[in-house]
Amino acid sequence: MSYPSAKALLLRAFQHVEEWEASWGSFEHHSSLGVDPDRLYAAMDEYLERLEGNYPFHHPRYAGQMLKPPHPVALAAYTAAQRINPNNHALDGGPPTSQMEQEVVADLADMLGLPDETLGHLTGGGTVANLEALWVARELHPEQSIAVSEDAHYTHGRMSEVLELEAVAIPTDARGRITLDALESVLENHEIGTVVLTAGTTGLGSVDPIDEAQSLCEAHDTRVHVDAAYGGFFRLMAHEETPTFDEFPAAHFRAISECDSVAIDPHKHGLQPYGCGCILFRDPTVGRFYQHDSPYTYFTSDELHLGEISLECSRAGAAAGALWCTLKALPLKPNDGVGAILSACLRAARTWADQINTSDALTLLAPPETDIVGYFPAPDAPTLSAVDAASQDLFHSAMNAAEDPVFVSLYRLPAETLTTLHPSLEADQDEAAVLRSVLMKPEDETYANTLVERLDALTRANGTVSSN
Ligand SMILES: *Cc1c(COP(=O)(O)O)cnc(C)c1O
Repeated sequence: MSYPSAKALLLRAFQHVEEWEASWGSFEHHSSLGVDPDRLYAAMDEYLERLEGNYPFHHPRYAGQMLKPPHPVALAAYTAAQRINPNNHALDGGPPTSQMEQEVVADLADMLGLPDETLGHLTGGGTVANLEALWVARELHPEQSIAVSEDAHYTHGRMSEVLELEAVAIPTDARGRITLDALESVLENHEIGTVVLTAGTTGLGSVDPIDEAQSLCEAHDTRVHVDAAYGGFFRLMAHEETPTFDEFPAAHFRAISECDSVAIDPHKHGLQPYGCGCILFRDPTVGRFYQHDSPYTYFTSDELHLGEISLECSRAGAAAGALWCTLKALPLKPNDGVGAILSACLRAARTWADQINTSDALTLLAPPETDIVGYFPAPDAPTLSAVDAASQDLFHSAMNAAEDPVFVSLYRLPAETLTTLHPSLEADQDEAAVLRSVLMKPEDETYANTLVERLDALTRANGTVSSN
């Protein structure tokens, strides 16, 4: 099947919306909205040129941070609705996209195995989705603390401060996953209302042992929030019908179905442009905390407005529309649509890791659990300062290579993590940078070998490895 043309889809979408607009009768736009053509095109030209300052996020040679363009169907669907600009704050602000939001929220809950009565809505992103989860955690247990893993996204610590909620840190293993002993000790020694687990850490894509952690929390009568902002869509890979992948923590993804709330970001692995997160609550009665009585309330429906179950007010109806249209075209199936894309990403990470293992110049940090790989140039002297310097060198030289550049990212790790994973390394400093590649584009599967070979050659050219 061929990759759809964004231009053709956009044109079709725009033509359709223009016809719909015209069906309401023609009118003259106000002269104040007019722009001098010279100024208009000069502004556009300068803008488009400045956009060229971006890194090539769309290209397989960009294997760095969590970044990629939306799928053409999402782009066209978003643009079509954006021209109308519905606001999903209230049903009247955009009846069709509000309805679509309810449908996609139900699809996401279903994918994660949550019950039919799950309450949820889209958000501006994972930050707000998690904030709402922590806020509900506080409203339910105002006298208790939350517990968050040391490798959880930094937003949890920051939002706990915003909410004036004490956050107890749960230590992690060298791969960035909470340790059950540490969790148990935190549960025994603190008054914890809710534990935050991560399904796919932002650092290395690691997955907390959600199934065992969930049982421990249940035994202590503690709620569980899963931050699946990055990894939530990998639930499709834990389906009985999907092939099994080495190191893939399927049981942990299945256990999400038992948790109290989940944050998931369609703007990460759901092919959407930024501005699309989602929060889901198993217990729909938490909707009571959101209650407000604003004089702006719209009047055409007695149904619960999305604005009545959300902390944000105005939200792009286009975000809901784009996700709805995308999931119609690329469904949440294990072997089709989004699932086929995610399996390619898992294969990309495994191929990348295998290829690193065949290189004398590069060392794999640890086998990837999802689609993020950590690695570093094998230095002459096995010290952290040498790893750090060689990683920085490769990061810069790969990005700035005159021919065939490769874009990766840097990731700082504490000495203890590095020496636990690689005992031969000498800890001559407290931390060191390694390289990190988020392989969230399915094309990465095809290009992984070539790109790692290129990194291998660049490492040798840098002279940071002596042998061969
Ligand atoms: C990205 C991410 C967040 C923050 O979400 P935004 O969409 O960037 O606001 C929170 N948690 C995890 C695990 C993430 O990967």
